[in-house]
Amino acid sequence: MHIPQTGLSKQEILSTLQAFKARDMDWKNGKVWCYVYDAGEDPAEVTKEAYLSFLSENGLDPSVFPSILKLETDVARMVINLLRGDPNAVGHLTSGGTESIMLAVKSARDKARVEKPRVTHPEMILPKNAHAAFHKAAHYLCVKPVVVDLDPETFTVRASDVESAINENTILLVASAPSYSQGLIDPIKEIGTIAKRHNLLFHVDGCVGGLHLSFMRKMGYDVPDFDFIVEGVTSISTDLHKYGYAAKGCSVIMYRDKSIRKYQIFACTDTTGYTLINPTVLSSKSGGPMAGAWAVLNFLGEAGYKKIIQKAQDATKKLIDGINAMDGLYVLGKPAMSMFSFASDSMNVYQLADEMSKRGWYLQGQFSTPLTPRNLHISVSQGNADNADLLLKDLKECVEIVRSKPPIDSDAIQSMIAGALQSPDPEAAFSQLAASAGLSGAELPTEMAFINEVLDNLPDELCNHFLINYFNDLYV
Ligand SMILES: *Cc1c(COP(=O)(O)O)cnc(C)c1O
Repeated sequence: MHIPQTGLSKQEILSTLQAFKARDMDWKNGKVWCYVYDAGEDPAEVTKEAYLSFLSENGLDPSVFPSILKLETDVARMVINLLRGDPNAVGHLTSGGTESIMLAVKSARDKARVEKPRVTHPEMILPKNAHAAFHKAAHYLCVKPVVVDLDPETFTVRASDVESAINENTILLVASAPSYSQGLIDPIKEIGTIAKRHNLLFHVDGCVGGLHLSFMRKMGYDVPDFDFIVEGVTSISTDLHKYGYAAKGCSVIMYRDKSIRKYQIFACTDTTGYTLINPTVLSSKSGGPMAGAWAVLNFLGEAGYKKIIQKAQDATKKLIDGINAMDGLYVLGKPAMSMFSFASDSMNVYQLADEMSKRGWYLQGQFSTPLTPRNLHISVSQGNADNADLLLKDLKECVEIVRSKPPIDSDAIQSMIAGALQSPDPEAAFSQLAASAGLSGAELPTEMAFINEVLDNLPDELCNHFLINYFNDLYV
């Protein structure tokens, strides 16, 4: 592939781009239960126009584009107020949950460097259900992740286990409201008390829950306090591009006050170039995502969000009850909002996901851990909530189909893995295993059950190694 010698026509370009989507999941039909949060036609239209109207404006320099400063402070303030921060609370817009989390960890690390110089090997305490973005931040920023197991009954962390993991190197506590995997809220209030007692920073990951749970609270649902009202919570991340229904590329990182936020900001005058001062990771950045978020918050308003949330919660209840009533399936824990996962004690859920995908549904497979079974994740939102009955009907039929099929031979896979681990050339043995699982070359796999079975049986470290090699080959 080369840059064409002469440019193509607009028509040619746009139709080719459309053609690229041929094998994508068609989220517009509401059969995809993750990845896309669709507010519907009118909000999407407004978002698109707003986004495009700020496509080229650069958030690099607020003195040149005060409009972007206004967009950022407006959106951050709207979310801070919703999450009951006081006027001292501050926030920034970022490209997504990962960046928000990365910045919360960086601020904690750099604050500790200044205020607790004796800490040379900083650690943060991560419940097992914390999002992988924290592990990524730990990896990038050289902070040690100390993982705390979950209560196997509730699938949330126990506050006392968090407290037991604190030592003199701890710089940050983390909990989720809710965790993405099972949609469950950790004991935020109790952990907040612990954070205060030990004078530690405490980040609440409200990436998926920040907006949705806050509106649920305002609607009278029973939602435990998880936001700035909880003493001890020092920062919160909330994604606009999930249950805020904004276009992708927008999240908010919020701090209780400026004394923490200052450690987020980076300035550099040490080069021949322009003075660089960046509050977030990105430097040059489009105003598009910010304008899109500003537009959708103002277009929907509280009333619009509440209407969407009512619909999503009604559909969620229907799905959870329907799935729990199916023979062999059960929902994990007591989900707090519109996302949950379900497992089976009598069939391979990855085969179930494959069977559903033949009917156009996408349910997200998640691997097992020592305390959680393998499961399928469902995020209910405006765009798919109307399909709850249809999903249940197909799920019921697919359960019967999977029951009638030969199960995947888990024992054979486990002995293949054990063999590869003992092979004199484990690298080659595992490449072969990867190939037999369909995880090699630049082709995307279609049936996932066998691959998932292999990956779920691999030790974590090896599994990561596998996946990195796979991606290293996939992107040609
Ligand atoms: C999605 C998510 C993240 C990561 O956000 P991205 O926008 O995908 O970078 C972090 N935490 C939770 C709870 C999430 O659901």
